[in-house]
Amino acid sequence: MGAQPTSEIEARLRRALSQRAIGLHYQPIVTLPSARPVAVEALARWSDQTLGDVPPDSFIPVAESSGLIHALGAHVLELACRATQAWSNGVRPQTRVSVNVSPLQLANDTFVWQVAAALEESGLDPRRLVLEITESAALGDMNEAAARLHALRSLGVRIALDDFGIGHSPLSLLRRLPIDIMKIDRSFVARVHENARDAVIVRLLIDTAHSLGLSVCGEGVETREQARQLVALGCDTAQGWFFGRPEPASSDLTAELHPPPG
Ligand code: C2E
Ligand code: CA
Ligand code: CA
Ligand code: CA
Repeated sequence: MGAQPTSEIEARLRRALSQRAIGLHYQPIVTLPSARPVAVEALARWSDQTLGDVPPDSFIPVAESSGLIHALGAHVLELACRATQAWSNGVRPQTRVSVNVSPLQLANDTFVWQVAAALEESGLDPRRLVLEITESAALGDMNEAAARLHALRSLGVRIALDDFGIGHSPLSLLRRLPIDIMKIDRSFVARVHENARDAVIVRLLIDTAHSLGLSVCGEGVETREQARQLVALGCDTAQGWFFGRPEPASSDLTAELHPPPG
């Protein structure tokens, strides 16, 4: 897509939302070292008649600045919970779904209710839902964010800290927020197999997470070498093109078995 004024993207996005034309692709998350799929991450997809395929890195910021993020977030939660519940009768009834949550959604008073409603409406077991949050100034009051995450966890939902390591104060988030899963940002994974310094840092992140009782997911794994190194460093799960690309729900992602990295 070419350069478009934000107001045009915003107008088209508003329309797409009212027509429920935003869809989801699902990317497998596998357990290590077996590479067995245990979850999928839901990723928003928008294909506009005039703008073409608009990547989420372009439209999520517009949704955030226009306030559309709340409607978009509710729509995404609903789709993800329904699709995952629909897979329950398939070969992998236990597969979890991980949904991205904007810090602005988390800061909204009605968010916990919205999650409860999506679970209720779809019939999905709350233990199969993971919410991915990122560090951001928009998280606002830390105590409030922590209280809200505790409320979500008491529904049975798990919390993942996304893009871990590239934010401003990752350790302070670990200290203050109730987190179940650490997702190591793909910038650390990129050279983990060839750069000793990066490997030391990833090991430190994994050991820290484990000491705190968290599970660790390595993001953006593109090669067998990266996957093997993550196994060697004790990483619990992984996600990336090596294991599978994001795909529409129609292809039964979770049935597919990828050969283990070792
Ligand atoms: P993210 O949450 O960090 O999602 C992972 C991104 O990395 C996805 O990009 C995915 O397609 C891409 N990816 C996965 N494996 C690989 C790999 O091996 N190599 C490389 N280079 N990339 C890989 P995508 O789908 O374009 O999404 C970009 C970002 O947009 C997401 O980053 C997330 O922050 C945001 N986003 C996507 N969907 C939603 C949504 O429903 N709600 C919100 N709030 N944000 C979303
Ligand atoms: Ca994510
Ligand atoms: Ca990420
Ligand atoms: Ca991101």
